[in-house]
Amino acid sequence: MTARISWQRQRSGSAIKMFHLNPRSTPPGQGRSPWSDINQRKLMAKLYFYYSAMNAGKSTNLLQAAYNYKERGLKPLLLTPQLDTRSGVGKIGSRIGLAADAIAFSQTESLYEICRKEHAGNEVSCVFVDEAQFLTRQQVYELGDVADRLGIPVLTYGLRTDFQGNLFEGSLHLLAWADVLTEIKTICHCGRKASMVLRIDSLGRPIRSGEQIKVGGNESYVSVCRLHFKSGLSEKDQPELPFAD
Ligand SMILES: [Zn+2]
Repeated sequence: MTARISWQRQRSGSAIKMFHLNPRSTPPGQGRSPWSDINQRKLMAKLYFYYSAMNAGKSTNLLQAAYNYKERGLKPLLLTPQLDTRSGVGKIGSRIGLAADAIAFSQTESLYEICRKEHAGNEVSCVFVDEAQFLTRQQVYELGDVADRLGIPVLTYGLRTDFQGNLFEGSLHLLAWADVLTEIKTICHCGRKASMVLRIDSLGRPIRSGEQIKVGGNESYVSVCRLHFKSGLSEKDQPELPFAD
């Protein structure tokens, strides 16, 4: 493979740099050592946190981005907490039917070691973490090391807050330490942006207390705006401001 820079024209007509392949084969005459490219890449790797309420399309976004890497012949590494078994252990699934295999990890496992071993076998281009709200403080710290020491970009996707409006451990530390924070937006039944999550029982009534992480059971979750989170009004209402931000 020869070193090259791929360029793609956006709809607006402006050219953007897509990615730089294989830094070890820098064309002669450019006066750049291969190591400077590798160091440059390490300097550029970042930790990203894509956060939202429920059902905003986080997993869909993750799977699409990972697919883009694969399509270009690059190796994405997909990680998912063992706690999330909705799509099966070691699977990332989305509401619109996309799915992919992933490495399932427990809360005591070292994510740095998982990434380092995978990277040593076959160079990893990007790490993707689903349900990142379930990460521990230590695991978020280690994902920072994956970006800083291994030079691999890390994209994490998760909920910002739980059904009581409190930060999850993983979200708290990602909000604190990630280089890039991006909100994936979804909409409350009233049309405003939904930034909160209500846990509701089988009759659609909001549940106000209980454990932060609950696997199984008849409860479900609905994304609402702050106003309706506070009032606990989770049933469908007449939209006041349809699709307002
Ligand atoms: Zn609302």
